[in-house]
Amino acid sequence: MTLSNGRQYLAIPGPSVMPDRVLRAMHRAAPNIYHGELVELVPELVAGLKTVARTSHQAAIYICNGHGSWEAALANVLSRGDRVLVLATGSFAYGWGEVAEGLGGVVEVMDFGRTGGIDTARVSERLVADKAHEIKAVLAVHVDTGSSLRSDIAAVRVAIDEAGHPALLMVDCIASLACERFEMDTWGVDVMVTGSQKGLMTPPGIAFVFYNDRADAVRESAGCASRYWDWRTRTEPDLFYHYFYGTPPTQHLYGLKEALAMIAEEGLEAVWRRHEILAQAVWAAFEHWGGNGPLRLNISDPSLRAHSVTAVVAGSEKGTALRRWCEERAGLTLGIGLGAAAFGAPELDHHFRVGHMGHLSAQMILGALGTIEAGLTAVGIGHRPGGVVAAADVIAAAA
Ligand SMILES: *Cc1c(COP(=O)(O)O)cnc(C)c1O
Repeated sequence: MTLSNGRQYLAIPGPSVMPDRVLRAMHRAAPNIYHGELVELVPELVAGLKTVARTSHQAAIYICNGHGSWEAALANVLSRGDRVLVLATGSFAYGWGEVAEGLGGVVEVMDFGRTGGIDTARVSERLVADKAHEIKAVLAVHVDTGSSLRSDIAAVRVAIDEAGHPALLMVDCIASLACERFEMDTWGVDVMVTGSQKGLMTPPGIAFVFYNDRADAVRESAGCASRYWDWRTRTEPDLFYHYFYGTPPTQHLYGLKEALAMIAEEGLEAVWRRHEILAQAVWAAFEHWGGNGPLRLNISDPSLRAHSVTAVVAGSEKGTALRRWCEERAGLTLGIGLGAAAFGAPELDHHFRVGHMGHLSAQMILGALGTIEAGLTAVGIGHRPGGVVAAADVIAAAA
């Protein structure tokens, strides 16, 4: 006997749940890639992406995952030997820094831990000390998917400006775009990267780099700008074929069109609000279950918590057992703990994550939390029963 048949909820922080509308839009023959509807579609997609990113500047589409977008963004602004300041609030900033190093950059990581925010005074201080302006870019991750910490990006901009420093502000929004408020132009972000498979609800395989005129001016002299990653080819192609520097990712583009239409129909602000409320429901459940016990959220300050993913400290080595139970017995797939060792506990087993991004409703979240509560009991993780009721109260009050 199994209770896991039925529609599975993939509650990992990416890829997220793909809407049927998106999947259906992709289920078609490839179109002509030289003229006709696909050629007309691409400028429409670029406009839709810019709306979601809250920018009036440029958006380049790449056929790659988030890691590819990291490299694409850096290749357009770095020269070998350039210094890069990485602000780490979890695992992903380190990953982006490694890509910078791979391109020949000199990488300096400022680690703020996994439970507090970026200390902008430290950032400012470091930039003021850089009198020769050797630091070419400051790299930050809006939502770190491992720690589930959200950084105040606007405050980082203020810190750079207060230091009177010309470094570009580059931001990874892979786990936050179309999940929570992000204002590229208002916040003064020069370069932003994201992927298709999280808030944008489209299968993994395409990624996006948004950049403004300041960043494009740096691109003029960037020694790393290679032909394939050059963003100019993709935003001002001499022929349509060069939008993608080769064959377009045809089905993905149809999927993305549908996803962007869904976001536009709901309204971006409403999408953000939905994520916020569903996140609050998740937090309420875990705070109730945890009580004073060892089970707890990784981020204790609610104002620093992401609205798209929640990292949990299981308080015992049974985190992995819980994930297995939920997946095999009940059809709910939870995320593994990421960068768990740095959370202060030695084993991955002590941690897990709940992804709550993209195509997600109250009933899905309440179902997931009910499943987790059953799992906590089944595998014997100590908790105060009733977390689902606390989550239901959040939903009832908001809806
Ligand atoms: C998922 C994620 C990445 C990596 O994206 P891939 O598509 O797996 O390469 C990078 N940064 C953040 C914040 C992410 O959530």
